Amino acid sequence: MRSTMMDYPLVLPSILKRAKDAHPHKEIVTKWHDNSIQRYTYGEFYKRTIRLMNALRKAGVKPEEAIATFCLNHSAHLELYFAIPSIRAVLHTINVRLFPEQLVYIINEAKDKFIFVDKSLAPALEKNLDQIKGVQKFIIIDDKENMPFPNLPNSISYEDFLATGDETEHFEPIDEFEAACICYTSGTTGNPKGVVYSHRSTYLHSMSVCMGDALALCEKETVLPVVPMFHVNSWGIPFASVMTGCKLVFPGKHLLGAGLAELLESEGVTLTAGVPTVWNVLYQHLKKTKYNLKLHTMVVGGSAAPKGLIEGFEKDFGISILHAWGMTETSPVGTVSRPRSFMNDWKDEERYAYRAKQGVAMAGVEIRAVDDDGKDVPKDGHTPGELLVRGPWITGSYRSGVSPESFTPDGWFRTGDVVVLDQYGYMQITDRKKDLIKTRGEWISSVDMENLVMADPDVLEAAVVGRKDPVRDEAPVVFVVPVEGKSVDPKKILERLKEHFAHWQLPKLDDIRSVPSVPKTSVGKFDKKILRKQLEE
Ligand code: AMP
Repeated sequence: MRSTMMDYPLVLPSILKRAKDAHPHKEIVTKWHDNSIQRYTYGEFYKRTIRLMNALRKAGVKPEEAIATFCLNHSAHLELYFAIPSIRAVLHTINVRLFPEQLVYIINEAKDKFIFVDKSLAPALEKNLDQIKGVQKFIIIDDKENMPFPNLPNSISYEDFLATGDETEHFEPIDEFEAACICYTSGTTGNPKGVVYSHRSTYLHSMSVCMGDALALCEKETVLPVVPMFHVNSWGIPFASVMTGCKLVFPGKHLLGAGLAELLESEGVTLTAGVPTVWNVLYQHLKKTKYNLKLHTMVVGGSAAPKGLIEGFEKDFGISILHAWGMTETSPVGTVSRPRSFMNDWKDEERYAYRAKQGVAMAGVEIRAVDDDGKDVPKDGHTPGELLVRGPWITGSYRSGVSPESFTPDGWFRTGDVVVLDQYGYMQITDRKKDLIKTRGEWISSVDMENLVMADPDVLEAAVVGRKDPVRDEAPVVFVVPVEGKSVDPKKILERLKEHFAHWQLPKLDDIRSVPSVPKTSVGKFDKKILRKQLEE
């Protein structure tokens, strides 16, 4: 029997229209480069987005064409998030920190027709103009930094472009499976790969992000996404926020320490999200300077949230870290580690250990862990396997086609993350497959070792990679960044590691190295490729 329900497509214009109808008076705030604060309402945002849709149409943008953004987090970027997919074109958010070869590669692969670019970021495009000749127009967003108008062909300011569109509301029908956005993987090996999200996948992901057991976004929150809007759509937070009508605060370039803390305080932010390095710096800053924060939740993902950081924020500032896992291929949120009610009376130590796991699959997403033969490993909390995932917001292929190594024959996506699963359905990452260290034929988890080192209050960051060793195959090398004003004592670190690792797994004393910083990827993760290269050299 067929259901009697309407065939009503799950598309982004519905989220946009609801913003006008359900919460037109709520605020969207941006702190621009020059520190000026812009405030407007969802009602005004709606009108400008309609104008932008019409301006894009007038400029000749057709369905399926990719329109790129090269921007930080601000209100104009949000307008683009909705206007582009709402006229059936495809939003391509470019990572502004890419190396030139990758930048050129993805602009050409996506066939970007126009690029909307922050004025201060334009030099990165100017330098590579002769290699991105397919781009027909550059629209310059003035982020109020004192810079000359860029030297880009066919360029126009964002406000002038917007003025070419009128306020006539016109929404054509959209098939929910049509492309809405495209993001590229960070491409640590080979070229980046395009992942294309549909209206439907984005809509469903947004609803799930709002669930109480997920990120629990809702109208009463004030949300500040630190995670860039070019990093997997800022983890879907802009779409989910517009769906709920929460107050949105965009930090522009004010992403670290004092600049961030001041904005969190002045706008009464209650929920924020970003990679662990951002929160590490904020934690050190909050220890030194007092703020009156309303912040209750920090969503942390992209890399493992160290247990010490989770404990520190909760005990010192009453702020809860909500650990989540995801990938470009998973839209991105796949699992969230919200403690369950039956854990309330557990000892602190046990609860923190659970919070440091990557968590339970979101409703709608299925996860499994399999061994090298493709057999499910037991859910015992200690047998590792590769994480497989499937669901309505998990990619089934790449823009360039299906990479057979990324999918099982029966259609599960192979994440390349090595995990353990437990009896309560919690997943914990023990490593990326390629980052595992093989010592005397046995695996060492670099993530476990890093977490243990980072639990030392004098340690700001720690990254562990393997170096070739004639006797042990590979031996771990620990790069440690001390907290400002502190120093690293390799002996103390070794003693700490001895409590959890067997003697044959331990690094040598002179392989525990103090460094001023750990190199980061374009999305703020430890760049172990560079560390390995440094060791080889
Ligand atoms: P990306 O596609 O750039 O977002 O990278 C995805 C990868 O980041 C995953 O496959 C994981 O290896 C890693 N990752 C994401 N979230 C976490 C997390 N909470 N803990 C540890 N690793 C994570």
